Amino acid sequence: VIACPCALGLATPAAIMVAVGKGAEKGVLFKNAEALETAHNVTMAVFDKTGTITKGKPIVTDVIGWNGAKEEAITRLAAAIEQGSAHPLAVAVKERAAGMELPTCTDFRTTVGGGIAARCENTNVRLGNLSFVQPVAMIPPNAIELGEKLASVGKTIVYLTIGRNLCGIFAIADTLKEETQEAMQKLHELNIRTVILTGDNKRAAAYIAQQAGVDEVVAELMPGHKAELIKSFQQGGEIVAMVGDGINDAPAMKAATIGIAMGSGTDVALETADAALTHNRLRGLVQMIQLARATHANIRQNIAIALGLKGIFLVTTLLGITGLWLAVLADTGATVLVTANALRLLRKG
Ligand code: ADP
Ligand code: MG
Repeated sequence: VIACPCALGLATPAAIMVAVGKGAEKGVLFKNAEALETAHNVTMAVFDKTGTITKGKPIVTDVIGWNGAKEEAITRLAAAIEQGSAHPLAVAVKERAAGMELPTCTDFRTTVGGGIAARCENTNVRLGNLSFVQPVAMIPPNAIELGEKLASVGKTIVYLTIGRNLCGIFAIADTLKEETQEAMQKLHELNIRTVILTGDNKRAAAYIAQQAGVDEVVAELMPGHKAELIKSFQQGGEIVAMVGDGINDAPAMKAATIGIAMGSGTDVALETADAALTHNRLRGLVQMIQLARATHANIRQNIAIALGLKGIFLVTTLLGITGLWLAVLADTGATVLVTANALRLLRKG
């Protein structure tokens, strides 16, 4: 009879509803309220490299024929085998061969985090990183050395092999997104540790990480290993947000406390994620955490307002100042105040 718990009941949903709307306006889509509530606790932000930290639009910068192979011939062959892949590196290789006539390949087999194999004109062809080509082909030490030299300036190196022989090396470069450095700096200001987990080689990854201003980088990882590492971070007490875009990021996003997909990411990534950043913007992560923290504080204020007004009503009742109108006023007043306070979230950022 005294008062319905309207204001108290509204304290959380009012803030969350306003914040979800505010997020959408900023390009942060929450799939569920839980994601919004967890995001305020995040202590570590883990990123996939390609397409997340970098533009994900790499271009071929060097083509080196091996064993007498001509640049044009290996470019055609590499583009032919990449017909079977939609990986950003495959797109770069295909662009390099734009307008060229390509040999036909069949029996495409992609290895996530490795490369692609196919049968082209009665030969077994592979294109991918060292650990992918080395089990089937002999890669001479001077080729590896050249690859490492190119990788030390941030390029991704893939090797083209026919049968057991190396016939070409491709260096592919991707550049940082314009906002990456700023986003990392802001995350550090929010006391969040930043980490890159990538399947790319160590040198290229270290170069990009250093340019981006990321705290830590772990390279040459298989997709499953990304998830394992995230679990070990969590065992160390970290609350992990994982931002990725690819099919290969889905297990890691699932393992993370909160999985976040880039809006332009693959369907699998978007499906697995708890939240998505539209416009593909990393700044969205900073805004998401700021919004989540503001929402968390707002909910606490709302609960305080609701309970506070109830308390005042209780005291006045005990003092003998009573009446139905007072009860109604206390409750309506609290509801109005809680709603007004939740709406203040609209002014954030
Ligand atoms: P990231 O974690 O940076 O997104 P991926 O796991 O997608 O990287 O790929 C890791 C590595 O596997 C690439 O750097 C490349 O060496 C190799 N690779 C994967 N797919 C392909 C492909 N289609 N063609 C050539 N190399 C590939
Ligand atoms: Mg990727």
